Amino acid sequence: MGALPESFVEIDGVLVDRRIFTTPFICDVVIQQCRSACCHRGCVVTGGDIERLTPHMDGIVRYLPEAKREFLRRAGGSFVGDPERQGTDMLPQETMAMIRFFKSPEDMRCTWVVDDECVFLYPSTQSAPGNGHRVTVNHCAVHSYALERGMDWQSFKPADCVQFPLCFYQKDGRTVLALQEEPGQAIVPCLNNPIGPPMYRSLEGTIIYLLGERFNEKVQAYGREHFPE
Ligand code: SF4
Ligand code: SF4
Repeated sequence: MGALPESFVEIDGVLVDRRIFTTPFICDVVIQQCRSACCHRGCVVTGGDIERLTPHMDGIVRYLPEAKREFLRRAGGSFVGDPERQGTDMLPQETMAMIRFFKSPEDMRCTWVVDDECVFLYPSTQSAPGNGHRVTVNHCAVHSYALERGMDWQSFKPADCVQFPLCFYQKDGRTVLALQEEPGQAIVPCLNNPIGPPMYRSLEGTIIYLLGERFNEKVQAYGREHFPE
């Protein structure tokens, strides 16, 4: 299932892709002008995601343009892509990132992709920092729904989306914390734009989400010691 990162360090028994200490990264749809490009192929959907989101679908779809609402109606209300109509060829890195939720890669399903983007993406505007001008962006309806209701978006959104661009997996009995570059690094601006703090700092919340507070403290201490800024 793919190779280990070329260069990794061991922290608290976990093999960590060294690039999280050296790669500047910031997820900001205005600064990156990304139009949420990381959502261009939708996301892998787990059984837990389906159970959690389905009761909220009436509220979530209210954010979507009519064409996407109509698409979902024609799909019987399900946001999970039908493998007969939408390919499920998973790239090795995506499979490694999500296999912990499935018995086999063949069981994996993604959200519907409509016009080359996740069915949950919708056009919106957001204030630019500094001048406050409204900038055209794409937002995630699941994320917006959670935020507007004061819900914890990390525990509500699909796990595949929350962990991006990190992931962890088991390899030869070892836990590996890695950087996802697939699918489509070339078209995801933030993976090609070296601005912001190093990943281990800007993605602290994601590291906690994946491997817990205690492990994150070790990662932060390692970064301060070995990669002082
Ligand atoms: S991860 Fe990158 S592409 Fe995705 S929303 Fe954040 S800045 Fe945009
Ligand atoms: S659920 Fe939201 S964050 Fe995840 S791929 Fe779809 S639009 Fe993007």
